[in-house]
Amino acid sequence: MARIADLLAAGLTFSFEFSPPKTDAAQLSLGRTIAELEPLAPSFVSVTYGAGGSTRARTQQVVTWIGKETGITPMAHLTCQSHVRAEIRSLLDEYQAAGIENILALGGDPPKDPADVKPSDYAYASDLIDELDAYEAFSVGVAAHPEVHPRSADRATDRRELAAKLRRADFAITQFFFEAEHYLRLVDELAALGVDKPVLPGIMPITNLGLVQRMADLSGAAVPPWVVERVESVADDPEEIRRVGVEMATELCADLLEAGAPGLHFYTLNRSSATRQSYASLGLPTR
Ligand code: FAD
Repeated sequence: MARIADLLAAGLTFSFEFSPPKTDAAQLSLGRTIAELEPLAPSFVSVTYGAGGSTRARTQQVVTWIGKETGITPMAHLTCQSHVRAEIRSLLDEYQAAGIENILALGGDPPKDPADVKPSDYAYASDLIDELDAYEAFSVGVAAHPEVHPRSADRATDRRELAAKLRRADFAITQFFFEAEHYLRLVDELAALGVDKPVLPGIMPITNLGLVQRMADLSGAAVPPWVVERVESVADDPEEIRRVGVEMATELCADLLEAGAPGLHFYTLNRSSATRQSYASLGLPTR
């Protein structure tokens, strides 16, 4: 296992994101996906955390399993909304005891239904970074939103809050986006605020337009009309959708690497093939 700050200092990183499985069958399927992606020798993989702690045990299980049973460095996502201090501290203590060295510190989202509101000692990712300051064990990442977080009052506020948390973290990973200029503008805006920490672009190869559009609506990212047109031109053929999705992701990745991105972070949706195909098209080495 390794600290992501050290991996980034040593060169480009290539990483994959998974979600904790909800069923036994999904667990087997995730195990297969991880086995299929292991030959790509990812720098690290990350495991998401369900809003309000809904996947707390499963995220922890998967992260710990990856750390113990594979040769891959894991990172645990952790959202702090709807958590009290004792919960967050006991989880961080357990990760530290298990030798986990990387945490993605997230604010998370408040519950939509007022009936689900739980006591919370935290509101923003920066509150979780306050907590993480007490732990030397962790390399800390934060989330960045190239097209501006949906709850930000405006672009300048978004960038100011991001710069403030990134100054105290080691790196950021972005929400997915489809045009390199969103990423490049974000990096320039952070530089103008005096922040030059590594920002890893989040890449989502499209395999299903409807799903990506729903995710984009939630995250504030836009699926540009030219992307929709390119996918809709092959809408009747799922294999062609996948081919076009991989082609667009590969073009974006190549542009980002050429522009100096410190690596690539793939949203896998717990499947391996689109990521493997993008990897192969980019000519990235496998073991
Ligand atoms: P925060 O930094 O908490 O900011 C949220 C909003 O508040 C922004 O508008 C920001 O400008 C504003 N803000 C921040 N700090 C302050 C402050 N001190 N005062 C006033 N305003 C402030 N969600 C999950 O539930 N589980 C996951 O595993 C998960 N993984 C993610 C991984 C990545 C790479 C990304 C990009 C997002 C992920 N998310 C995840 C989504 C994330 O939880 C949402 O974006 C959430 O709405 C905000 O959390 P945050 O850490 O992105 O933002």
